Parts: sequence; structure tokens; C-alpha cells
Amino acid sequence: MIKGRLIVFSAPSGCGKGTMLAEILKNDSFRTAVSATTRNPREGETDGISYHFLSREDFDRKADADEFLEHAEYCGNCYGTLKSEVDPYLEQGIDVILEIEVQGAMKIREIRPDALFVFIAPPSVKELRRRLKKRGTEADNIIEERVSKASYEIKLAENYDYVIVNDALEDAVNDFFAVIRAEKLKSKYSPELIDKILNEV
Ligand code: 5GP
Repeated sequence: MIKGRLIVFSAPSGCGKGTMLAEILKNDSFRTAVSATTRNPREGETDGISYHFLSREDFDRKADADEFLEHAEYCGNCYGTLKSEVDPYLEQGIDVILEIEVQGAMKIREIRPDALFVFIAPPSVKELRRRLKKRGTEADNIIEERVSKASYEIKLAENYDYVIVNDALEDAVNDFFAVIRAEKLKSKYSPELIDKILNEV
């Protein structure tokens, strides 16, 4: 069976990544890996679905037991991708999306060079600030911390294979599917496809 693709999907907080992913996941051939984090749940978030919410002690214990593919600290909290959320699904031919920040993405680039790296950018920093304020879940000082973090992350977008600007949601989602489609048509994946065609002769 053709294996699923590992897709690294990074976007600064407030870029509409959650809304984009909700649209993408309406397609059954994708799943997102549920990350572990030490941050507190926001209103409306559910343990085991939004994140695996862990204490710092539990997070460190999993890191020591080598249960993470990667983990990183972001704005004072730990975030990590559990191996159990990724490899079993790739084996089943499902494309797994890692919704992770740039440090974690660069670690994945080293250990899984065949992954596809997609960066979601806001149309402007002004629009990013407006979206973060509208969300209303964070205090003003946290919003400014996230805006300055976003500026740093946007500078690293050139390390990704593709950059998609999320201005109009539908366009951004269509761009994402176009990227996946182009990726799957790359010649390096054609030997398996060619074999499949020839087996039918
Ligand atoms: P938030 O607190 O807004 O949910 O997420 C903050 C940042 O952590 C986002 O950029 C998000 O993509 C990133 N993040 C979420 N899960 C992981 C993970 O498993 N590993 C890494 N490195 N970053 C993550």
C-alpha cells in the first residue's frame, strides 16, 4: 500500500489555522496528530481532541521515555508530537498533518526529510493583530507577545516548501489541496504508481 504523507503545517497563532484545518479535515484521507501540551485548555477545547493536556511532570516523563517525534517550548509552554499519533496512520495510507511551530518543524525536517512543509501566513501583521484581539482569549500583553513571535516565524517561512496566505479561507484551503495534489504527482512517487499500472497489464 502507498504510505500516507507527513505534512508539517505551521502558522503563527491567529492565522486562521484552526478554521483552515477544520475544512481540510472534512476530507477523510487526512488526520491531524493530536499534540501534547503543558498549556491550560482554552474555552471550548477538549482533552484528547484539541490536545492531550499534560502536567509538566507527565510531559517530561514522556520526553524521557522517547515518546515524542519532536517537542519544543513556545511562549512558556511545552508542545510535542507523539509518535503514536503519526506512524500508525502513515502506515495505513492516511496523510498526517502536524500542526506545529517553526522550531519543531525544523526538527522534523532533519529526521523526516521526506515530509512536506507548508507555512500559513497572515495577509499582514495588522490583520493578524486584529484577528488575535477578536478571538478574545488572551490578555493584551500576550497578544503583543504572539504578534512579535509571529514576525519572527514569518521570517522563517522561506525554510518551508510552500507558503499559503490565509486571506480568504476558501482560497487558502484550495491552495492547500493544490499543493498536496502537485506533491503527489511528483515523479519521485511515480515508481509505485507505475508498478501498480503495470501489474494490471
Ligand atoms: P496554541 O497554544 O495557540 O494552541 O499553539 C501555540 C503553537 O504551538 C502553535 O504555533 C502550534 O502550531 C504549536 N504546536 C502545537 N502542537 C505542537 C507540537 O506538537 N509541537 C510543536 N513543536 N509545536 C506545536
